[in-house]
Amino acid sequence: MEKEQKTMERKPKRPRGKARLIQGKCIGCERCEPGCPVDAISDSVTAKPIIDIERCTGCRKCVKICPVAALEMYYTDAELALIEELRSKGEWKEPVEAKPAAAADQSHQGVWVFVEQQDGIAASVSWELLGVGKTLARDLEVDLCAFVLGEGVEHLPQEAFSYGAKKVYLIDDPVLKNYRTEPYAMSVVDLVRKHKPEAVLMGATGLGRDLAGAVATILETGLTADCTHLNIDKERRLLEQTRPAFGGNIMATILNQHRRPQMASVRPHVMRKPDPIDGATGEIIREPLNMEEQDIKAKVLEIIRDERGLGHVDIAGAEILVSGGRGMLGPENFKILEELADVLGGTVSASRSAVDAGWMPYDHQVGQTGKTVRPKIYIACGISGAIQHLVGMQDSDLIIAVNRDREAPIFEVAHYGIIGDLFEVIPALTRRLREIVTTPGSSKNNSGMVSGDKS
Ligand SMILES: Cc1cc2nc3c(=O)[nH]c(=O)nc-3n(C[C@H](O)[C@H](O)[C@H](O)COP(=O)(O)OP(=O)(O)OC[C@H]3O[C@@H](n4cnc5c(N)ncnc54)[C@H](O)[C@@H]3O)c2cc1C
Repeated sequence: MEKEQKTMERKPKRPRGKARLIQGKCIGCERCEPGCPVDAISDSVTAKPIIDIERCTGCRKCVKICPVAALEMYYTDAELALIEELRSKGEWKEPVEAKPAAAADQSHQGVWVFVEQQDGIAASVSWELLGVGKTLARDLEVDLCAFVLGEGVEHLPQEAFSYGAKKVYLIDDPVLKNYRTEPYAMSVVDLVRKHKPEAVLMGATGLGRDLAGAVATILETGLTADCTHLNIDKERRLLEQTRPAFGGNIMATILNQHRRPQMASVRPHVMRKPDPIDGATGEIIREPLNMEEQDIKAKVLEIIRDERGLGHVDIAGAEILVSGGRGMLGPENFKILEELADVLGGTVSASRSAVDAGWMPYDHQVGQTGKTVRPKIYIACGISGAIQHLVGMQDSDLIIAVNRDREAPIFEVAHYGIIGDLFEVIPALTRRLREIVTTPGSSKNNSGMVSGDKS
């Protein structure tokens, strides 16, 4: 009986409050609706949220998600009565309000691009980033700046000006001769702490990935790796950083609302390299390196160059690519792609299926887990066009697809599509191109392409 009594006297649920809309603040962004874990929010015709208070559990998720603080918590009359009752029994503790996330430091200004270099030669991705950086800086109405680290790199600021930088921060010191994480990361951190940029862009190369991660960690800021698109939300002065997520099945746009600088890395060839402007000038700001060689733990004992040497072909830099997929059926059939590539002065690449099957080496793979390419011509042979492949080649200037399946998704990005059996189409194409090349009077340019033969 006593046990039964205890069960009957179960404590009432502690009031947690309900969410409600503050009139006139909602901008109709609709972020709260999918953010509610109990489906208590629905959209009205005007795209303003309607909150079902019977369902609302007072979890506050919508209040935290709302970018314009248009939602607040309140207690219903029934909850207020219960709170009074609990208070009178000494059982009510006032809830501790969670501290709002720190607002971003608005004193940060300017878009910065890292000029990656080796032996004084800048990586092309740096100039590609200055191209997109120019648009970002224009939208934010701030300066586009570059920063250069190394030894004997005094010539690089001039090159950066020609690609659009207005200011270049330069640390030229023997300690920075070869890349090591510690001195490079600390140099960038010192520059950022002193000059406070609001956005920092780096190439998603081996070096860039290492450096960006180290810098973001020390500065305790966010870094979005491998972005495929960058944009500015002008109203909130936020860098919208878009990249593939969930195996490339969705594109996610990531914001860093509370920390500065906003950091993003972009793979080579994703952004278009601008044309350099001869004679462009700007300001060079020289800064010292605040480290001595003896402070650095890692020492460079020997440099071993890539043994594949000069003969090695980097598909990421190729102007013409003839790419084969599972439709090639076997490694021996890549010969017909090599023949076509030879006539065009191009290089053979492959889809992941062909690489996984062992038909082509990994460094020839195009796509999300391979290389991003942006050639003048990309010929896809027996490649279906899965999203993970497309993200690696869809920005090519001219895409030609050969596939026997007219529904293949590759045709959605192709400028020219040939529906047919590649074992007939490719040799015929090669034969015809050879005829044109060997015909007296045909004009052949440096790349081996015949002018006017694109279609
Ligand atoms: C996390 C993740 C990362 C990935 N990363 C990559 C990546 O980096 N790169 C990549 O490519 N894939 C990647 N993939 C794999 C991707 O999803 C696809 O499986 C792959 O791209 C398919 O390769 P494919 O087009 O060669 O083969 P399939 O999809 O099998 O397509 C073969 C095509 O050949 C055509 N075909 C067959 N015979 C002929 C013929 N005789 N003539 C003409 N056409 C013919 C068929 O109609 C078909 O369209 C990734 C997947 C995941 C999950």
